[in-house]
Amino acid sequence: QLSERLQAVSRHVPRGAKLADIGSDHAYLPVYLLEHGVIERAIAGEINDGPLLSAMENIQANGFTDHIQVKKGSGLAVLLNETDIDTVTIAGMGGPLITAILNDGQEHLSTIKRLILQPNVAADRIRQWLYSEGWDLISEEILEEEGHIYEILVAEPGTGTAAYSNVESEFKKELWLGPILIQEKHSAFQKKWKWEYEQLKRIEESLNEAKDKNTVSERLADVDQKITWLKEVFHYE
Ligand code: SAM
Repeated sequence: QLSERLQAVSRHVPRGAKLADIGSDHAYLPVYLLEHGVIERAIAGEINDGPLLSAMENIQANGFTDHIQVKKGSGLAVLLNETDIDTVTIAGMGGPLITAILNDGQEHLSTIKRLILQPNVAADRIRQWLYSEGWDLISEEILEEEGHIYEILVAEPGTGTAAYSNVESEFKKELWLGPILIQEKHSAFQKKWKWEYEQLKRIEESLNEAKDKNTVSERLADVDQKITWLKEVFHYE
């Protein structure tokens, strides 16, 4: 049984897609998508030998060796000399690592029509990159599974600005929280940010107690800004 998290990722993969799943580990996602007749073929990219082997074994066990090719390599480098791949999934990593993979492999993204990214933390880093590089967010999702909250960002080539409200004062807040998630206010979204709010209040308190105010002033301003944004969005007291 595929995790809820990866099932949610799978629902954003277009029918007939030719997929590259980067950091595929056991290749659970491409195997599931092929089993359900969603994709035509896939590359399962892996940097490490252990997960690479697990991917090979799982693909073989499911009889998909003709349709899922396992490639060893870092990030999008596995797309070298591949001309038909149109969809990329990168799931289960931190936002900074996903952003680095996208940024380092930009030359391999020219044929890609959709990115489906599932950061475990720091989704804002990815949003910033997508915005700067002209990828429009077309969908955002948030879900909770076994006590963890996950975000899914789906992007397609465009101007980068599409999902944002175009109100300058709102931009950084939307980037941080997610321009689509902020509209929907899903229960997992409320839970995540309530927890973050409590953390920020605690940090604010300890920064306020610091003896040397100069050394903490920048950090305090950042924390205060975030507290203000969360109050605006959730109307906390
Ligand atoms: N994508 C699967 C999922 O969502 O369940 C596996 C996530 S697992 C936590 C992260 C995988 O990414 C590991 O198998 C790791 O070896 C691989 N990985 C980490 N950095 C990578 C990179 N730069 N290129 C390719 N794979 C990478």
